[in-house]
Amino acid sequence: MKEQLVKAGMDWRGLAAEIIEGKVLSREEALSILQAKDSELLAIMDGAYQVRRHYYGNKVKLNLIINAKSGYCPEDCGYCSQSTQSDAPIEKYTMLEKDTLVDGARKAMEMKVGTYCIVASGRGPTKRELDQVVAAVEEIKTTMPMKICACLGILSQEQADRLKQAGVDRYNHNLNTSADHYSHITSTHTYEDRVHTVSTAKAAGMSPCSGVIMGMGETDEQLVDVAFSLRELDADSIPINFLNSIPGTPLAHLNELDPRRCLKALAMFRFVCPSKEIRASGGREVNLRSLQPLALYAANSIFVGDYLTTEGQEATEDHRMIEDLGFEIERCAL
Ligand code: SF4
Repeated sequence: MKEQLVKAGMDWRGLAAEIIEGKVLSREEALSILQAKDSELLAIMDGAYQVRRHYYGNKVKLNLIINAKSGYCPEDCGYCSQSTQSDAPIEKYTMLEKDTLVDGARKAMEMKVGTYCIVASGRGPTKRELDQVVAAVEEIKTTMPMKICACLGILSQEQADRLKQAGVDRYNHNLNTSADHYSHITSTHTYEDRVHTVSTAKAAGMSPCSGVIMGMGETDEQLVDVAFSLRELDADSIPINFLNSIPGTPLAHLNELDPRRCLKALAMFRFVCPSKEIRASGGREVNLRSLQPLALYAANSIFVGDYLTTEGQEATEDHRMIEDLGFEIERCAL
């Protein structure tokens, strides 16, 4: 079946029409997107665009990260420069004060950002760290029309309930990779821990945000597996990160992505999770390079500004890319 799909060349527009009508993509079809010839790339992106346009028109949602606490993390995620296992020369600091977190939200407003993401390193937040985030969120929500996403690691139900009560709209905790590849990336917590935290955030009433980092040695089948797991978890927002191998991290030697593979993966996620917010996330500048604008035919969301410990491009360049495509920035509806 898979060989037939690859050989014959798929009718990607026809498949998109079926998806819009409610068809659920099969694993074989998902694999056939990743394994399609490069000569089919534009047809695949056209199919993905039909689906994206059905759900989101030409709107692009902007998100901004503030690295609220950097480094000192006892976990051993192989891709991460903030782990104590990493020798990457990053800036390290403890949780930022409330006023700094609130100032970051003001800057996000100036950049036309719809969601402000407060991200902290570590296995999970301490009481003091959670108090600081809660105080900042309460102030931001009373003064700015902005959605807030928190990403603070593993949460207890009580912690998740507090964040929800403070006004956090969304909680991010990425699955990162498939269940059977997880132990190759991290040994200090499990894939199940991650699934559990996504479910905990959802039980508290926060919108679940969970995605992947591709390019960490996973197979096509494993990338499809994690896409299907995210569909099952019903993540509302799915960041697709492209490994930006940072010198000093255990995965620094990996450099297996090319722009066409990144685009096919974005299209695959759009076909698997058609109505969800698909975000072209960390590493897009270095991995998609000159093909970055094509990503927005599948994705409807990007980060602007810098990532946690690596630089993104200027927000003005992203604004121009969106304008050049004839797309428009989605303003926060709060
Ligand atoms: S990804 Fe998060 S949990 Fe893993 S090492 Fe980095 S900061 Fe720690």
